[in-house]
Amino acid sequence: MIFLNCIEVKGLSKKYGNFQALQDVSLEIKSGDFLAILGPNGAGKSTLMKIISTLLKGYNGRVEICGYDIEKDTKKVREKIGIVPENFLLYDKLSAWENMVFFGGLYHLPRKVLFERAERFLKSVEMWDWRDKKVKTFSFGMKQRVNIARAFMNDPDIILLDEPTASLDVKSALAIKNLLKEINARGKTVVFTTHILTEVEEMANKVAILNFGYLVAFGTLEDLSKNITDKTLTVEVEDHLQDDLFAQNDLRVQKIGQKIVFNYTTTQELDRIINLIAQSNLSLKSINSSNGDFNRLFLKLIDKGRDKN
Ligand code: ADP
Ligand code: MG
Repeated sequence: MIFLNCIEVKGLSKKYGNFQALQDVSLEIKSGDFLAILGPNGAGKSTLMKIISTLLKGYNGRVEICGYDIEKDTKKVREKIGIVPENFLLYDKLSAWENMVFFGGLYHLPRKVLFERAERFLKSVEMWDWRDKKVKTFSFGMKQRVNIARAFMNDPDIILLDEPTASLDVKSALAIKNLLKEINARGKTVVFTTHILTEVEEMANKVAILNFGYLVAFGTLEDLSKNITDKTLTVEVEDHLQDDLFAQNDLRVQKIGQKIVFNYTTTQELDRIINLIAQSNLSLKSINSSNGDFNRLFLKLIDKGRDKN
């Protein structure tokens, strides 16, 4: 894997009239990353995605893709990216095949390459059998699959998708998630927006959390849970608890029935807890550890964004 910053967003701010939709957002996306931009409705996800996709201008700050400024070198940037915006970029009156050939044609590919890619990508989204049917006859999920296949026509290094699974049935959503995982495994950089936490955990290696236009967190899932949430170690004991056993050790302890729940942040704290348990003569029934609940982390981070407003 090449560790290049393939997308650099520096101090990006965007206003719609007086409304501040993005506020000083900076992030770096490396080649091969699978980044989720997560946030509730109105957080600024689509705004950020449209700017990175070269579809929206009139902002402050800079965005570079593969070292090219997206405003100065828009043409070069568009060769590198495949765009799946929130609305379908397809002609309803054309068939799936005609759409692929039309949009692929914008990149002046030789006919052989054009046809070969149209076939390969329609097959990869399982729409090959439907290639001669007009897009207007398709279900929402089928349209989205063609819409994604269309974004691959220029064989981009980076694929940018705004809520690719929104409004899809479970089966179509799964097909799209699998396709994205597969292309990421083949080395493509994938950036997508979502408001669904489980999608982040299922797919992404990094997450950028937006709220009210602020970037409230950015990093690997591991980093985020390490830095922000409390981890817990829960031990269940056979015998009655001696109330003061852990009290004098300034540990964060809760007693719930036969369970003792230790909250800790650092591995040093965890070592101390384990030592104390080992010395305590308690007979243990079970031990459970939790690395922090991502749901709770998300809500906590969103609160942080609200404070800034
Ligand atoms: P998200 O995709 O996270 O739901 P958006 O980027 O679409 O958020 O929107 C962020 C905020 O900017 C919202 O409050 C939205 O109402 C506002 N907004 C988006 N587009 C426009 C526009 N063209 N004109 C005015 N306000 C807009
Ligand atoms: Mg949106």
